[in-house]
This record gives sequence, structure tokens and C-alpha cells, in this order.
Amino acid sequence: MSQQQTPSPARTLALRYAAQEHKTFINDEWVAVRTASAIPIINPASGEQIGTLPAAGAAEVDMAVDAAQQALSSAERTGAWKPAERSRLLWALADAIEANAAELAELESLDVGKPIANARMVDVPGAAAALRYFAGWAGKIGGETTELSVPGRWHAYTRREPVGVVGQIVPWNYPLMGAACKIAPAIAAGCAVVLKPAEQTSLSTLRLAELIHEVGLPPGMVNIVPGLGPEAGAALVRHPGVAKISFTGSTATGRTILVEAAATMKRVTLELGGKSPVIVFPDADLDAAARAIAMSIFFNSGQTCSAASRLLVHNAVAQPLLERLQSIADGMQMGDPADAATQLGPLVSAEHHARVTAFVEAARQENGRIIGGGDKGFERGYYMAPTIIDEIALDSSAMQQEIFGPVLCVTRFDTADLQAIAALANDTRYGLAAYIWTRDLGTAHGLIPLLKAGTVRVNALGGNDFGMPSGGFKQSGFGRENGRAGVEAYTELKSVTLGY
Ligand code: ADP
Repeated sequence: MSQQQTPSPARTLALRYAAQEHKTFINDEWVAVRTASAIPIINPASGEQIGTLPAAGAAEVDMAVDAAQQALSSAERTGAWKPAERSRLLWALADAIEANAAELAELESLDVGKPIANARMVDVPGAAAALRYFAGWAGKIGGETTELSVPGRWHAYTRREPVGVVGQIVPWNYPLMGAACKIAPAIAAGCAVVLKPAEQTSLSTLRLAELIHEVGLPPGMVNIVPGLGPEAGAALVRHPGVAKISFTGSTATGRTILVEAAATMKRVTLELGGKSPVIVFPDADLDAAARAIAMSIFFNSGQTCSAASRLLVHNAVAQPLLERLQSIADGMQMGDPADAATQLGPLVSAEHHARVTAFVEAARQENGRIIGGGDKGFERGYYMAPTIIDEIALDSSAMQQEIFGPVLCVTRFDTADLQAIAALANDTRYGLAAYIWTRDLGTAHGLIPLLKAGTVRVNALGGNDFGMPSGGFKQSGFGRENGRAGVEAYTELKSVTLGY
């Protein structure tokens, strides 16, 4: 569908939703912000403003944290906030997402610029799946009994208790799924939430708040405060009533948050940037590897923290692999995200587009061999075609910094020494993910322990699952999301010893 054609009913709903007046969602009510600050909502495919967001500040964050605290004390008083009820409501929210899937996908596509096919296939079903996965954890979070050695008769056990009110700060790349992945484990663990979506992409999270109201979550259990990072986000991090911050975003902001959180000794989970290597050995299935690498780095225009952005390829297969990658890149349809055939939309904002382009330009100046790239003549919107940078120095900015765009940097190696290969792979301050392509079990198992990364995948295209903990080594963060670890991150462990 081109922008000239009549929009579908779901698209019309999304456009109308974007243009309506937006407020903060506090204590199950829509509350206008007290300041006049507003944030423009920009459609990245056209650069046009399609709406305005309120910018919540410290006053709204205070109200939201109060509401969350009240929700938890009232739950404690009534004893009605049982695991089965939390589970039921998470499932109900997943059902509500599915019932509104078409509109949510359009909203996500409109706001982030992601291809509608991806929003339909990944973002919306992913959000529902996350809610259902974590719904299953409510009621399965528990402690242990332990036999003590000290003299006496004891009943000793541990309890896992909800950490309390949690502040959750979400980035702009997968807004709906990101919000669901944060809210669901917190609610499963019995916490209350104040969530700040990213200022670039808050629409689907605000729409999610409407669904939260519809399914009947107790007032104050989930509050949504759209706003700017250094204002609403910082207020949340500083607030003494917030027990934990769960943040996903850049390493620079993560570092600021860690420092700020220290003042009140908040628990923190930080899921930060990455510069993840994909290592291809001569015996790899090159067709499968090329498809997986292209998917990893070009999907969502490379705006994925775990994207395989550094290709380390054995000399023997470098040429055929690069040819395959180039052919996939050339064949990718870049265009209007609203078109179901589009595979590559624009980057999220003018600012981000300028940043990504600057990395490629710097690489060109440093004699990197640039394959593909550019805006392919798009006059409006923040488009950038898949780009491969070959023969670029290991210490160049393109190789070392997280670009967060459809840009793959290539290094060739000529050794079978796994230590040397691991040293290349680990030559980064990040440690989020690493990918290996080989048919040799010895190579794979030999390399896995040497890689400094929170996630390692072997011969895998995709493989994301909420059951697997995800998080980073080194400057990619700390703490884990997803899996048991991701739920337990919303609990405090209490040791109880009872003498009898
Ligand atoms: P990016 O630079 O890609 O936008 P950020 O890490 O800055 O990534 O943003 C991720 C999230 O962190 C967004 O919701 C943003 O508003 C928020 N944020 C940015 N700065 C701060 C801050 N100082 N304190 C708290 N949150 C912040």
C-alpha cells in the first residue's frame, strides 16, 4: 500500500490514535501532565509530525510511584493479589493484544518505521507471547528449605518476595514487546510498575495502557509515564519509593542510571548495547549463515541490541559469504513500512539516521570498503540501505562502537586457533551475544566457553525465546531478563530461621 492509497481500517485507527490527545496513565486513570512540555511524534517514513506526546516530569513520576505503592499496600491488606489472579490478568492482557493485533501492528509500524509485516509477525505476537510466558511463572516462584548444621532444632527456609515498586525504562526499537517483557515478569513476581516508554516511540505502550485498563488490572499496579529520559526517566531513577530499576538502552545512559541508582541503593538490571560477533568457519553452511547474518543485522534496520554487527569470517570462505550477503542485501525491499512487501523501513529518527550515516562516512575516510548503503533516492524519511564495511581496521569507530543501523563490519581471519579467534571476537567493550557457524562440534564447544558474551548461538537463525535468560557480559550490562533469572530479578531473597 502506498501512502496515496486509502489506508486500511487498522491504519486509520492507528493514525487517529496517534493524533489524539495523550496523557499519562496513573492509578488506572488518564492524567494530564502539569507542565506545558510536549514531544512531537514523528513518522520516520515521512518526517511528518503525526501527534504530540505529553512530557511527564517529576510531579507525574511522584504520583505514579505513590499509586504503585498504594496498589501494593492495598494488595497486601486484602490478600486478593494472588499468583493465579496475576497470571489470569497477564493472560487476559495477551488476549487483548491479540484482539487488537491489527491496530497495534499499524501503530508500531507508524511510530517506529518498522515494516508492517515485521510488526505483525514479530512485535505484536511477541508481546502476547511474553505476557503468557511470564504468566506461567506467577505461583512458581518460591524458596527452599535447608537443613542447618548449627546446634539446635530448626526450620530454615528462604522466601522470594516481590522487590516492591519497580521503575522500568524502555528503548525505542521494540516498544510494545519491550514493554510487555518488562511488565510481565514484574507482575508475575508481585511487583507494581511505573514504566517510561522511549520518547521517540510511546504510542503502542499508551495503547497497551488502555488494554491494561480494559482487562482490569488493579489501579496503580501498572502506570505509564511518557516523557524524556533526563526528566521523567531520571526522576524515576532518583525516586526513593522505587526499589528497582530495569533499564534497556544505550551503555552511556545505563552508566548514568547505575551512578544515580547508587544514591538510594536501588537494585538495577541493565540490558545495554552490543557489538556482537558472528564467527563463520570454513565448514559452515554458507547459505544458511548468510541468511541468518542478514536477518540479524538488517532486520528492524539493524536497530536490535543483539544484532550480529561484526562478521569474523575465515579467509577461505570470505568471498563466497560476502557475495551471498550482498545478494540478499540487494534483494531486500526497502520502502514504505505500511506496505506489506517492505522488508526494510527507515531508521527511527533524523538524529539516529545522521548518527548511523556518520559512522559509515568515517569508515569511508578510514579506507573501509563500503558495499551498498545510501538512501537509494528516498527524498523523505530516514532511509538507509543495508551496508557492508569490509577491510576496516579493528580499532576503527565503526568496528568498536555500536552503530545500531543496518551496517555489518567485516574482519577476515586465517587461523584455526580458537584462542586467537576468541580474542578477535572479544575485542570489544561489549559482551551481549556471539554467533558461531560451523558443522564441527569440537570447534563449537571449544569456542563457546572462550566467548565473553551473555548469549551464544550456534548455527542458529533467530532462536529468541523468553525462556532463555538474556543479558550482557562486560559493558553490555548486568543482571538478566527472561527465564527464571528474569523473574527472580524482581524478587528479594529472605532467609528465615525458626528455632523449635
Ligand atoms: P538512545 O540513545 O538510543 O535513545 P537511551 O539509552 O538514551 O538510548 O534511551 C533509552 C531509554 O532511556 C529511553 O526511554 C530514554 O528516554 C531513557 N533515558 C535517557 N536518558 C536517561 C536518563 N538520564 N535517566 C533515565 N532514563 C533515561
